[in-house]
Amino acid sequence: DNSKVKGKTFTIGTDVTFPPFEFANKKNKYVGIDMDLIRAIAQEQGFKVKVKALGFNAAVQSLESGQIDGVIAGMSITPERKAQFDFSSPYYSSGVVMAVNPKGNVKSLKDLKGKKVAIKTGTAGADYANSIKKKYGFKTVTFDDSNNMYQDVITGNSAACFEDQPVMQYAIKQGTKLKIVTNPAESGAYGFAVKKGKNQALLSAFNTGLKDLKASGAYDDIVAKYLGTDQ
Ligand code: GLN
Repeated sequence: DNSKVKGKTFTIGTDVTFPPFEFANKKNKYVGIDMDLIRAIAQEQGFKVKVKALGFNAAVQSLESGQIDGVIAGMSITPERKAQFDFSSPYYSSGVVMAVNPKGNVKSLKDLKGKKVAIKTGTAGADYANSIKKKYGFKTVTFDDSNNMYQDVITGNSAACFEDQPVMQYAIKQGTKLKIVTNPAESGAYGFAVKKGKNQALLSAFNTGLKDLKASGAYDDIVAKYLGTDQ
């Protein structure tokens, strides 16, 4: 039953650059797995979306303060976030990896002692880094988007960064000069989020749409469009 969302427009916040989930293409249009997914679901369920590329942390905060209706931004479903948000069914599995400059001599967590590590504000990767920084003796430097975080490692200012595995893998494939040196930790799947107790009709329309897109093969087509078929 999509009668409560039909014809409505919802404002959806997302990250500025988080390929292959959201990024601006050459025509400056927002594309990626999340963008195709939300648009396909909106079309199927008869609602409209207005996408706002706010940056990850800003999008999450805007949702918390009720300025936007939902967030789709490769957002990990975590127990802490569940206190503030309601999540859709998981739509993509992920985990946090550590990436380094391939030419440097940092090869594992143990090599981070006394060094600086780049993290992205408000992310699961940042939480993970903060949870182990005492144990491994490193300091953190924060960035608002993934690309600036990568650059800090490439230039050698930071010894490593922590990023979601599918995103880091994709960036490296696209030419980002970094190397993944750990297995994924803190695996939390991605979900579409609304503020707790709000926009429940939108959330259930998302879940219905996601189920339908999975059943029809359209979900697989979207993923394959960005990642190929050998996933
Ligand atoms: N998956 C991570 C999180 O939810 C990072 C998301 C992002 O940077 N867009 O915290």
